[in-house]
Amino acid sequence: MENGHFQLPPDIQEIVDLAKRIVRNELIPLEAEFLPHPAHAFGIKETTNLKRVFGPDVVNHLVDISRDTGLWYLMVPEKYGGSGLSMLAQIAILEQFNYTAVPFPFANVANILYQCEGDQVDRFLKPVIEGNMTTCFAQTEPNAGSDPGGMMQTRAVKDGKDWVLNGTKMWISGAAESDMIMVQAVTDAEKRQRGGITMFLVKRDNPGMLVEEPGIKTWLGPHASQYIVHFEDCRVPQSDVLGEVGNGFRLGQRWLTIHDRLLRGPYALGKMQRALDMSIEWSKNRVTFGKPLSERQAIQWHLVDMYIDLEALRSLTYQMAARADAGEDIRTEAGMVKLTSMVWGARTLDKAIQIHGAMGESLELPLTLFYRYLRHGQIGGGANEIQRMQIARKLLRG
Ligand SMILES: Cc1cc2nc3c(=O)[nH]c(=O)nc-3n(C[C@H](O)[C@H](O)[C@H](O)COP(=O)(O)OP(=O)(O)OC[C@H]3O[C@@H](n4cnc5c(N)ncnc54)[C@H](O)[C@@H]3O)c2cc1C
Repeated sequence: MENGHFQLPPDIQEIVDLAKRIVRNELIPLEAEFLPHPAHAFGIKETTNLKRVFGPDVVNHLVDISRDTGLWYLMVPEKYGGSGLSMLAQIAILEQFNYTAVPFPFANVANILYQCEGDQVDRFLKPVIEGNMTTCFAQTEPNAGSDPGGMMQTRAVKDGKDWVLNGTKMWISGAAESDMIMVQAVTDAEKRQRGGITMFLVKRDNPGMLVEEPGIKTWLGPHASQYIVHFEDCRVPQSDVLGEVGNGFRLGQRWLTIHDRLLRGPYALGKMQRALDMSIEWSKNRVTFGKPLSERQAIQWHLVDMYIDLEALRSLTYQMAARADAGEDIRTEAGMVKLTSMVWGARTLDKAIQIHGAMGESLELPLTLFYRYLRHGQIGGGANEIQRMQIARKLLRG
């Protein structure tokens, strides 16, 4: 603590400052081209989204910056050439990159892939780290969303050295653009989520897997990139089972805890800070009835509420990251971060749009895009009610 403010260690602050410079000098200037483009990107790690909007010169330039600075490996463990930075450091850095709508290319690795063993490391993990293989995660089904453990219908049955998968997954982000899909299937109908669900790594060219195209169009979340995926006698070798047979549900939960819950904290924080900065600036310059908006109490109270949400979320997120670094089981607390970051984030963006008036709706500004993504996060990856249910369970267990 210094001057009453939480201070990051100097070595981490240095990387945060580097991230800030990249965002200001390289990414924000690209927003004018990026924001009105129909293929809005979701997430901050995917070069595939960048490629939909910009030519190879821009994409390669950003990838070069990412690789030259080492930021590419920000979230990769040291064992695989990564930064070895703490979760807290990663979160502080990611917050900076979420200040802009333009995604910065990082190695995009679902953390469960670090369970790869033997030749899986060379066949799957390393190509994903280097950006030569894209992946997605398939848990949800037409009748299994909030309760995947209880309702999942996709089955896998052992046949010789292979498993044979049958069933349908739905809402799978990026399935058509992925080289490999991490699929959960029931392997023991009695045990289900308690040892009866297994994770399979299914290659996109597997003849037993069909990705329905075009994808499902949504407005809040990513543009046209959710898909229905069918498995019809889809043969997957035992060597492409991730982790142990029966452990796939736990693996999925582990991925969700960090990627889909804790990391929503910085995902929202960057957007909220930008919305607040823009709103302060706008309200000082926009004059109505002879005075700037910033002199009106109604507007000041919006700004104050935005600031409180931002600071409260930052404290919560950083604290949970530090507890994860200390080895604590933060599954429930990560749900708190997900819930608050998406709810407080969306209401902060709603206020920013209101303060900007008509301009707030314009695609020249990132506000509506930020709002959509944060509102989507109240459903995707475990809806608000499900996070509350899990937090209540822990509270009531005592
Ligand atoms: C844009 C987008 C991208 C997605 N990407 C992926 C992906 O890549 N991979 C993947 O596997 N899935 C993905 N999903 C699926 C997503 O995780 C599910 O939609 C989400 O978990 C909610 O499931 P559901 O839609 O079936 O809602 P339901 O389970 O039908 O729930 C409907 C509503 O009821 C509430 N509810 C449910 N049960 C209870 C209860 N017991 N008490 C109180 N309220 C309850 C829920 O919170 C929700 O608000 C994506 C979804 C979207 C929209």
